[in-house]
Amino acid sequence: MARIHYRLSFPNLHAHLVSVEARFIDAAADGPEVDLKMAAWTPGSYMIREYSRHVQDLVASDEDGRSIDVVKVDKATWRARMTHGRDLVVRYRVFGHELTVRTNHVDGTHAFLNGAPTFLWVEKRKEEPALVEIEAPPGFHVATSLDLVDGTYLAANLDELIDSPIHVGPSPALEFSAAGRTARLALWGRFDMGKGVVRDARGPDELLAQLVADTQSIMEAHARVFGGVPYEHYTFLLLLSPGAYGGLEHKRSTALLASPFAFASRKQYEELLELISHEYFHLWNVKRIRPSVLGPFAYDREAYTRSLWVMEGVTSTYDRLTLRRAGVLPAKRFFEKLCEEWSKLLAIPGRKKQSLEESSLDAWIKLYRPDENSVNSTVSYYLKGGLVATCLDLDIRLRTEGERSLDDVLRHLWRRYGEAPQGFKDADVQREFEEATGLDLGDFFDRFVRGREDPDLEGALAKVGLALKASYEREGGEETDDVPPAWLGVNTQGDGRVVVASTLSESPAERHGLYAGDQIVAVDGFRVDDRTLAKRILSRRPGDSVRLTLFRRDELFEINVVLGERPRDRFEIAPAEAPSEDQRARYAAWMGEDLPLS
Ligand SMILES: [Zn+2]
Repeated sequence: MARIHYRLSFPNLHAHLVSVEARFIDAAADGPEVDLKMAAWTPGSYMIREYSRHVQDLVASDEDGRSIDVVKVDKATWRARMTHGRDLVVRYRVFGHELTVRTNHVDGTHAFLNGAPTFLWVEKRKEEPALVEIEAPPGFHVATSLDLVDGTYLAANLDELIDSPIHVGPSPALEFSAAGRTARLALWGRFDMGKGVVRDARGPDELLAQLVADTQSIMEAHARVFGGVPYEHYTFLLLLSPGAYGGLEHKRSTALLASPFAFASRKQYEELLELISHEYFHLWNVKRIRPSVLGPFAYDREAYTRSLWVMEGVTSTYDRLTLRRAGVLPAKRFFEKLCEEWSKLLAIPGRKKQSLEESSLDAWIKLYRPDENSVNSTVSYYLKGGLVATCLDLDIRLRTEGERSLDDVLRHLWRRYGEAPQGFKDADVQREFEEATGLDLGDFFDRFVRGREDPDLEGALAKVGLALKASYEREGGEETDDVPPAWLGVNTQGDGRVVVASTLSESPAERHGLYAGDQIVAVDGFRVDDRTLAKRILSRRPGDSVRLTLFRRDELFEINVVLGERPRDRFEIAPAEAPSEDQRARYAAWMGEDLPLS
């Protein structure tokens, strides 16, 4: 029945190539010319990636193997002239050796394929189902969320095809049940046998068993918000690589990139659980509840929306809140993470230059393409969006006397858009939030969503009987006096060397002419490296002048900098002095447990 058949094979794993055969049955009926296209981007990652640059060796024929002429007409379009035959059979290879969740990675150990950089498609047939046959190398197993029908995978349309990454690797997927449905976990790589989480673990199976158990709890806690899950099966593709971290959400699966050392400590393990929680929550928020440009998709151009803060900010709020609700993150750690986020936000001068809506709209050229000026001119809709969503949740709880919360907003959006063929318009967002809560949120949106104000975290926490305390981060835990430490005002990078990555707006460094790219080699004549620079600055007082020796474009320079006062950058959340009954009740409703006494 399907008139589109793809066949994937891997005769050349070591060359990082996947061979694709795409057969468009009855293509001649579509007209004398058929345009084949490759996506420029993939949903969930808002950057034009020009995937077509990895396509090579493309040839075409009809159903009898007679050659068909193909000319390339632009960077991502191939035009076939159907001068004879009925079907169009295109064969090509795709290079992939970039290990991220949004690109292809093919080598002797596995093939991880995303739909966008793999499949050529025909505009007229975007709504048609496609069959995908996968010829896995001997001993390899396929994991994907596509349904298997008589030995062949079936995608209902192009959006589903592109939304279903495929993993072909040596280990079969683990199957388990969560929220009343089947879940699968396909793992590539192996976990190091760290003992920070499962103290008496004797083998990798015990680590995996812990991960599966915690993942089940997380999935079920998310499902409780929405009253069930909207799928028959869900697949986690978990790829392990040192130093790697990231995920990409899909409707019935997610691709995750994490560290093999995740079990070394509880903190590192929490990072992995947070990633799982985040991407899983997206199956509702962004994959189904979505702005209209995020499904159905146009793959050849940017999908502009002012609402990515709802998609990513609200998801960031829920990834942590759900870990708490699932019982896998202690309240203390929940609040430590919230403080870390708050501290990060306040260290970004750009938060005064860009609103959440502006940040969302410009994701394609700003958030996804950071440079030395990003910190001064932009703010992340993940970071600020998460804090704004947390404050909004607490605000709704206070103003509705506990009758409503952000959960109700999500359930409302779910009912309205979860199954709808079209998503919401940016202009609908505030109204939808207001309908869900019965509140006027104009002032809130004006200030924190459309405007550039910092969310009032201190005020929000006070509503649930918590106090936010600010102090200064110091080496060696010295916090005795409240005198601000001396401050230079740069972000640095470098392994050993100290290279200025960015100079913060209105900082002493900017005032005295320190530039991104400068390598700082000495302070007052003594050499510094990336460990000692902060200590040397900290040993001075605000108002002191220091002589910095630096290399700029390989030439030695000296500049004098009068140090300033470091803004408060260390935060702590603790129960307020004497919380009222109302505050305690709101805390309990929010966190699902009693407010600790001290
Ligand atoms: Zn996300």
